[in-house]
Amino acid sequence: MERVCAAVCTAFTVAYSGYFFTHLARHIARAWRESSPWSSTSSGLAPARAAAAGSEEASCPQAGKSSASSSCTWSTSSSSGSMEQLLRERTEDERLALLRMLVSEGDPEAKYTELEIIGKGGFGTVCTAVETATGEEVAIKKISLLQVKSNELCVNEIQVMRDNKNANVVNYVDSYLLHEELWLVMEYMDGGSLHDVIREIQMAEGEIAAVSRECLQGLDFLHCKQVIHRDIKSHNILLGLDGSVKLADFGLAAQLTAEQSKRRSAVGTTYWMAPEIFTRKPYGPKVDIWSFGIVGMEMVEGAPPYLMETSRTARQLISTGGTPKLQKPRQQSAWLRDFLHCCLETDEDRRWSAQELLQHPFVTSAKPTSSLTPLIMAAQQFMADRRF
Ligand code: ATP
Repeated sequence: MERVCAAVCTAFTVAYSGYFFTHLARHIARAWRESSPWSSTSSGLAPARAAAAGSEEASCPQAGKSSASSSCTWSTSSSSGSMEQLLRERTEDERLALLRMLVSEGDPEAKYTELEIIGKGGFGTVCTAVETATGEEVAIKKISLLQVKSNELCVNEIQVMRDNKNANVVNYVDSYLLHEELWLVMEYMDGGSLHDVIREIQMAEGEIAAVSRECLQGLDFLHCKQVIHRDIKSHNILLGLDGSVKLADFGLAAQLTAEQSKRRSAVGTTYWMAPEIFTRKPYGPKVDIWSFGIVGMEMVEGAPPYLMETSRTARQLISTGGTPKLQKPRQQSAWLRDFLHCCLETDEDRRWSAQELLQHPFVTSAKPTSSLTPLIMAAQQFMADRRF
């Protein structure tokens, strides 16, 4: 008995000291950042002006971080960034011509055999299909060019997916233009969306932690490549029956550059959007972290905060309400509550980065992804039962 108690105490001490040192490292990093000549607070420059100064460090959202985040590279002038600017200056016809240049030639109807429609989005449908030559199963998103407000979104989605391949990002396969439709061929995620799971089942903390780790790995990858997703929500997190977790839907993504290290346009889905977007401050990749914090709340409570409010009221509450509170906080562990708090800091500078959150004890104690398979299968079973 004594040995068991001693072992438990040792485990607790080791876990707690890891947590303590993570926090300590953050405080030291922040103090260093605040005293750094590149810091926007110490230089007295607002973030947008710091970016305008043209210094790489001044405009890099990750500048002044501890060495833990030094793997982030800074692209001085990425091709897709300048392409995005180019796009905005083009007419729709010119964008269509550009889209034609981006997509593959050939007849996708001959290349793929369609199976079934699996979903409908704002601009079209998504179906499963098989590549006839290889037998590989894919998902095809068919976007009606007549329905999208601008072809800019389509060009954006193709470019971001094509240029950012990663184990936690839904893999781009190919794209075609057929009549008035853009066909975006991507890997098929046979476990559906995280939203489907959340709707059906109360997730355990270990499962929430596993999903968080995978999403944060995807976000860390994107942010290191200066890409902001800007529409992180459970609907845009797709799952595989093997337990894989991937970020999807890059229509609203933004590529930052050395010249434009912050964004201002208010895009996203209201209930998941960060306060700095509504208060019209220049914002960076941390808006995705806020949105992921909201996904965390969805995983705990089944829905994002303020969902019952109108979009207008929700915007006001998000802008002024501070960190959203869990309805029954005592039902969650201290680590989960702290993790959500770190994601949902209203002050962008105090909000943790994806790389920092990957070191949070709630995330480091996550189960392997294979543990998600029973959860995903159970959700699918519930959905199938309800259909009959
Ligand atoms: P919007 O694009 O208007 O924001 P949305 O995100 O619901 O809406 P889509 O991205 O078009 O729309 O997706 C529609 C449905 O298809 C969703 O339920 C999504 O889960 C599913 N889906 C999308 N891509 C894939 C994929 N690669 N594998 C499996 N399912 C997918």
